[in-house]
Amino acid sequence: MSGESDRELHPDTLTIGWGYDPASALGAAKPPVYLTSTFVYKNAAHAKAVHRAYFDKAEAPEGSPYIYSRLNHPNLDMVEKRLAVLDHAEDAAVFSSGMAAISAIMLCFARPGQTILHTKPTYGGTDGMLYGFLPQMGVAPFGVEDGVSEVSLQTTANQALEKGPIALFMLESPANPTGAIVDIAAARRVADAVAARQGFAPIVSVDNTFLGPFVQSPLKLGADLCMTSLTKYCGGHSDLLAGGVSGPADKVGVLKAQRTFFGSHLDPFSSWLLLRSFETLGLRCERAASNALAVASFLRDHAKVASVNYLGFLPEGTPARAVFERQCRAAGSTFSFRIKGGEAEAFRMLDRLKVLRLAVSLGGSETLICHPATTTHYNVPAERRLEVGVTDATLRVSVGLEHPDDLVADLDQALAAV
Ligand SMILES: *Cc1c(COP(=O)(O)O)cnc(C)c1O
Repeated sequence: MSGESDRELHPDTLTIGWGYDPASALGAAKPPVYLTSTFVYKNAAHAKAVHRAYFDKAEAPEGSPYIYSRLNHPNLDMVEKRLAVLDHAEDAAVFSSGMAAISAIMLCFARPGQTILHTKPTYGGTDGMLYGFLPQMGVAPFGVEDGVSEVSLQTTANQALEKGPIALFMLESPANPTGAIVDIAAARRVADAVAARQGFAPIVSVDNTFLGPFVQSPLKLGADLCMTSLTKYCGGHSDLLAGGVSGPADKVGVLKAQRTFFGSHLDPFSSWLLLRSFETLGLRCERAASNALAVASFLRDHAKVASVNYLGFLPEGTPARAVFERQCRAAGSTFSFRIKGGEAEAFRMLDRLKVLRLAVSLGGSETLICHPATTTHYNVPAERRLEVGVTDATLRVSVGLEHPDDLVADLDQALAAV
């Protein structure tokens, strides 16, 4: 199951075997881990032909196409093929973390004097690149006020264009930890209008980490690149870090070529773990989503909870609800809520939890909870985090695969202490 003709199969089927051919490994039903840093050529002519194929895109010779594991290795190839097919992409590049993927997009496609348009809020590391690092390289960031408003996207694009050509639209939808939605199709239309004015098209990149390939397909909505922190739902067991970028072969090719020099490819063992994690991704997303609905419903009705920011509860008739229904196949399983009170009340509840674990990160098999203001957003100035709705009463929960009754009972006894 690795040929072009299998492309019409469902993602649930593709994720079981796509990208691995048992005939390539003595018939092993499951792929071996190729723990090697380098590959032995058959002879000198083969060595030359392999390099010609890699660097000049010439036809691959008979025998192994591999050179050195920083350039490419079999487990990386498999995981990239599988991610690409799930994201409906021509190709994918897999990196050693989500941030390695995000920084590669920025460093490969933005040049001094250019600008980047981004939605708000953005992941902390993305924010750090946009405001801490890129200005030193002469690249200026511009934040969009309201990602579901085409007018707001266009207004920010106009501001950015006054400063310089727009290299990138960095979108994150739904955003961390507020669940703010971005209308990806509207961003595409604005990017096309920008292209007509500046003479080249900005690259529209979407951070799809919060939902992942089973729940949202940004490339089908008009994005050029789909970036995913594979550390989260795709890895799914909180035991590896990885990041992926899917898209057309020419743009992914640029990322892969530079990755050789950045040295940020994913290692063989993590690639192997990730490949097997993909097999259960659909199942895990389904169970986590139904658990999350149970937990969110419990919290919404609890006297000590002020509000719940769960995508499934977006009010009918709002622009965000309409975009959510158009773009997302489910509400995911990471959301935030506000407890009545502030830091003291939040801490009292957190310290009573027995089943839910107190940690940052999300998308693992275990349920994790954190207090963003003092952890994930510790380094974000108070006015910037309050602007995006992260108060001292905000808690973020990533619902896992435990029995929902145990999660609800644990939260219930912890809230009783507040
Ligand atoms: C975790 C995360 C990242 C960064 O991924 P790493 O694998 O930790 O480098 C980027 N975006 C979002 C939305 C994330 O949650």
